[in-house]
Amino acid sequence: EAKGAGRGTHRFFDWIMSSRLQARRDMEAELRAALARDELELFYQPQVAATGGVVGFEALVRWRHPERGLVSPAEFIPVAEESGLIVPLGEWVLRTACAEAMRWPEPVRVGVNLSAAQFAGRDLHASVLAALQGSGLPAERLELEITEAVVLKDSPEVVSTLRRIRALGVRVALDDFGTGYSSIAYLRSFPLDKIKIDRSFVRDVAHSESAAAIVRAISMLGATLGLTLNAEGVETDAQLAQLRRLGCAELQGFLFSAPRPAHDVPQLLRELAVCRQPSLAAGEAVT
Ligand code: C2E
Ligand code: MG
Ligand code: MG
Ligand code: MG
Repeated sequence: EAKGAGRGTHRFFDWIMSSRLQARRDMEAELRAALARDELELFYQPQVAATGGVVGFEALVRWRHPERGLVSPAEFIPVAEESGLIVPLGEWVLRTACAEAMRWPEPVRVGVNLSAAQFAGRDLHASVLAALQGSGLPAERLELEITEAVVLKDSPEVVSTLRRIRALGVRVALDDFGTGYSSIAYLRSFPLDKIKIDRSFVRDVAHSESAAAIVRAISMLGATLGLTLNAEGVETDAQLAQLRRLGCAELQGFLFSAPRPAHDVPQLLRELAVCRQPSLAAGEAVT
């Protein structure tokens, strides 16, 4: 009996595993078709200077599924990463973001998220160059967001790819800083222009001494290393005031706007205005 029950359990788990696998394969096939059918779309979230005005917009991909509606990247990016689809998908995002940013006023930048897998795939430097040349967007107006997963690879190839991309004039930001396991020592050797402080610190910054202390420390470090500081997920005026005090030069979050479709960008620029000042280095606004 016990044996039978064991076998039953085993079969049950087999069934769960294979249906999960099947769901993943289904999504992969659908995503492949979605790329071909043009069902992907970029939303844009403003990045606002502490001194006021829009510095840039982060491009955030959405899947407009015919039955399921708008699908979040949290659902399909992992599938794209595992299947290798992230390489063509990432190239589509790069090309589209650069082309759409060409319609924005002169100094406004566009931020594009990169997956670690894109560094292993085709020549990323060539893809970035092609997206810039194809659109005519000046390199200075493109910013690539990488994650700690990329930094943690600590590979000479990744570092040299990033150096070549930065040599074009493209900026590089480290996304979700503080959530991974990368050591602050990497900040010294890695070719970066900006740190984006993760939302989890921002959430508590107005009421937690320790969260504020961490942001203050990152801000000091950023200032010393000449990195711009962005705070993600700003939702309240109290958070905004505290982040300004702590020297964050750039703020992003629902307080200003949720990510919105490309056709809403002109309206957002009217509401928030364009920032004409060069951005402060981190820590410069610390009082
Ligand atoms: P991320 O790059 O860290 O983007 C920030 C996420 O936080 C976005 O979620 C954004 O909508 C959300 N967010 C912004 N402000 C607030 C706020 O005030 N409060 C809260 N609670 N959330 C806020 P989204 O658009 O669902 O994207 C999730 C993640 O998917 C991104 O995190 C990024 O890692 C990934 N992703 C999005 N687009 C792309 C892409 O084109 N390529 C790659 N490789 N990854 C992408
Ligand atoms: Mg990002
Ligand atoms: Mg982030
Ligand atoms: Mg993230």
